[in-house]
Amino acid sequence: MKTLEPTSETTVATLPNYIGGRFVQSQGDTLPVINPATGETLSRVPLSTTEEVDVAVQAAQAAFETWRDVPPIDRARYMFALRDLLIENADELARLVTLEHGKTLADAQGSVQRAIENVEVAAGIPSLMMGYGLRNGAGKNIDEEAVRRPLGVFAAIAPFNFPMMVPFWFMPYAITTGNTFIVKPSEQVPGSMRRVFELIDEIGLPPGVVNLVNGAKDTVDALLDHPQIQGISFVGSTAVARYIYSRAATSGKRVQAAGGAKNVMVVMPDADLDMTIPNIINSAFGSSGQRCLAGSIVVPVGPVRNELRQRLVEAMGKIRVGNGLEEGVTMGPVISEAARDRIVQAIENGKQEGAELVTGGNAVQPVEGGYFVEPTLFDNVRPEMQLAQTEIFGPVLAMEPADSLDAAIDIVQASPYGNAASIFTEHGGWAREFQMRADVGNVGINIGVAAPMAYFPFGGARSSFFGTQHGQGRDAIDFFTDRQVVITRWFEGETGAHW
Ligand code: NAD
Repeated sequence: MKTLEPTSETTVATLPNYIGGRFVQSQGDTLPVINPATGETLSRVPLSTTEEVDVAVQAAQAAFETWRDVPPIDRARYMFALRDLLIENADELARLVTLEHGKTLADAQGSVQRAIENVEVAAGIPSLMMGYGLRNGAGKNIDEEAVRRPLGVFAAIAPFNFPMMVPFWFMPYAITTGNTFIVKPSEQVPGSMRRVFELIDEIGLPPGVVNLVNGAKDTVDALLDHPQIQGISFVGSTAVARYIYSRAATSGKRVQAAGGAKNVMVVMPDADLDMTIPNIINSAFGSSGQRCLAGSIVVPVGPVRNELRQRLVEAMGKIRVGNGLEEGVTMGPVISEAARDRIVQAIENGKQEGAELVTGGNAVQPVEGGYFVEPTLFDNVRPEMQLAQTEIFGPVLAMEPADSLDAAIDIVQASPYGNAASIFTEHGGWAREFQMRADVGNVGINIGVAAPMAYFPFGGARSSFFGTQHGQGRDAIDFFTDRQVVITRWFEGETGAHW
């Protein structure tokens, strides 16, 4: 097997794919999977070839032929089994997430819980998948009904920041509606999906119903172009989301593609700061700012500015940066050396642009070998600055003051992104005005991370989302099913006939 990296690391195990109900080794090149808290190589991830993608699609297509006819209640029963196994193994799964991603164990546990909740919701498939009908709907003695039916093979392409959770926005719904599925995890964090597939293997799904194919761009391209894949669910950066949306549509696929974000948190003069500060800190610095729902711009409106700034600085001083597996650590590393360098460069650019660096701003190394950036706050950020426009995806918060609610809403609207926005206030009318006018997918009212539960749709607006149906819940049921209309006429017969 060829490798892209020096031989000293080749003793680390290469992760397998899972195709047609078996773990199989890819013949592709491999990349190292790095623990960002220590720089240590944890495993190697294969870059699966176009031929291997085709084998996975063929396995999924073959499984579809019988899986589509398994009664929904029986498909739901696999979800009950999977839920139990995920709960039993939740701590181990969270640990795997932290090892590869770096977020604190508590954060990782939260993401595993979110995955489990999606399995729980999908277990309700017999009700969720029901269609509707109307007797005499098309005329006397002509009944009409719309039924939901599965389409075939679907695939999900996941980002690095929620290795365990994001595939679960799609996979449980895709398979319980009768489709078959392929997961392509981020090549930076593939380990927790491997463990998930060991658990999937235990629940005894028919071979080929779910498949795991590791890889990066070339593997993704093979999925996008494959004529037998019916639809693609993507979550990642906006540039790649745009590309996925157009390339997959070229071959006639359904696509839902979630992109990047630049989320604004507005603090009104009447906000309860004791409650607001921890919310902002968690939103901006939780997961080292590497959440699509992370607040990265804070907008103090009017006189609250000075107190907010001072209390944010105080709270940031209490953030303990280190290895997310260690007790007491509240912020882990960023995902890679490249990400750390990119974030530090964005901070430098912010200084050059004339924003005021209030605190933080440096790469630090609380653990040898790891990739860490201090929690960083800028003030006096203006709308035209890169700090206000570009997704940094790191622990950097930009303060952009406004003198009215209107001006604050203008800041939300000025961003090309529309994933989330929050307002902190005790005033219902202001909150409502904000909710009505903010063109974003998720609004938080006194909530810093407005993350939808599994039975609500997860997705953004504008450059944060391409497509129509979002992930999770009923949106997912719509995405993974086609509505077939059946119109039935029985010619009037004699009632009470006997022979
Ligand atoms: P990314 O776009 O770099 O990668 C996402 C996936 O696409 C990975 O599986 C990767 O292998 C693949 N990929 C990367 N480049 C590709 C290319 N040129 N062609 C084809 N495939 C490619 O994103 P990331 O860095 O892994 O994740 C962070 C990004 O994801 C951030 O922008 C974040 O805001 C976003 N995100 C959005 C949401 C949401 O709900 N909107 C949720 C989580 C993350």
